[in-house]
Amino acid sequence: MPKQTNLHCSFCGRGRDEVKILIAGQEGHICENCVEHAQDIITQELGLKHEAGASSDSSALSSSGTSNFKLNIKKPFEIKKFLDEYIIGQDDAKKVITVAVYNHFKRINQKQLQDDVEIEKSNVIMVGETGTGKTLLAKTIARLLNVPFAIVDATVFTEAGYVGEDVESMLTRLLQNCNYDVAAAERGIVYVDEIDKIARKGDNPSITRDVSGEGVQQGLLKMLEGTEVLVPPQGGRKHPDQKMIKVDTKNILFICGGAFDGIDKVIARRVNTNAIGFNVNKESQDYQRKNILQFINAQDLKSFGLIPELLGRLPIVTYLNPLDAETLRSILTVPKNSLIKQYSRLFEFEGIALTFDEAVFNFMVEKAMEYKLGARGLRSICESILTDAMFELPGAGETKLHITLEYAESKFSKSKMSLLKVA
Ligand code: ADP
Repeated sequence: MPKQTNLHCSFCGRGRDEVKILIAGQEGHICENCVEHAQDIITQELGLKHEAGASSDSSALSSSGTSNFKLNIKKPFEIKKFLDEYIIGQDDAKKVITVAVYNHFKRINQKQLQDDVEIEKSNVIMVGETGTGKTLLAKTIARLLNVPFAIVDATVFTEAGYVGEDVESMLTRLLQNCNYDVAAAERGIVYVDEIDKIARKGDNPSITRDVSGEGVQQGLLKMLEGTEVLVPPQGGRKHPDQKMIKVDTKNILFICGGAFDGIDKVIARRVNTNAIGFNVNKESQDYQRKNILQFINAQDLKSFGLIPELLGRLPIVTYLNPLDAETLRSILTVPKNSLIKQYSRLFEFEGIALTFDEAVFNFMVEKAMEYKLGARGLRSICESILTDAMFELPGAGETKLHITLEYAESKFSKSKMSLLKVA
């Protein structure tokens, strides 16, 4: 097309053949390079001026700073009540986190009053098997308080200069989640999952360079304590020329979580209980483990391989119980957005009333326990039972669907899940 040869980017002047994409406007064009540049400028401007258009909550009680995020400060019992609506059990963890979060925001407000007594940050570390609700707890708190929230996985980080992500990139995630509203991000909550995976390997720190263990823990120190960090707005190291955004972490609350597999033995050794005697049967083993976790302290985490400096910056240690059958049963139906309520809503959209035999819930719990899938497994089990109905019923004119135990058993036995080998 001869007409196209005259086309050029109205911003940088590059011709059509020098660029990959040329987007047409009313009286000009823009190439992909200029779009990228423009994006960088917008990001930086919005970040620096704290003008980003983040959604604001009209029910907010009070606000601070220039951010569009209105901080929702609640009393501890109100926070706990809210958590109870979404999370079953885990009362100790709920209480500890509630108090930590409440004190954290008191601390932020006190700073604004220029008081001279400085309250230290109350970063938290949670220990509990996978799927016991650690992420859910952190996420629910952030939702209640209306603060930006990011979940990051400690396993992706490596010491600066090695293949992997720098620890600063966790703040990129936080910034992205609040539309680069820096003032809001500076009061956000970061949940660092799998913190146990960056435990020091072995007791002697100097044998080899431990780039994904101790090195990362060292990298985290300053950030947890509070420092100004230059954050790459796009994350990663792929854009070396990107303009950095300065984020002060002194009011960011860090909640770390990990399964710390085998820590029960460490605690048992310390509290002088014989962990080897636990293997009577799975049930009593779980029961012992549940009981033993409540004694966890920083000393045990140090024995596990977290460096003392890091533990010093995570002063609040709490634990989550493994989920027993009764808790799993409640998780299915009780929380405000429980799985069964979610599926019922999905069917409601099709004008279908979904009901279950009580025995079906017990069957689901039984399978989740049998396959050692915890609460996360409940979803896959529901899915395996209801997928056929969700495929067949829309548009079929049905108004009711009642799930009997026989129906559930037959659908489950035909699903891929039932082929999983039980260890
Ligand atoms: P973790 O971070 O401990 O590995 P999650 O918080 O991601 O576990 O939990 C996985 C899922 O299991 C959650 O999305 C939630 O649906 C369910 N769940 C786990 N524990 C609970 C609980 N105590 N109450 C309600 N739901 C739970």
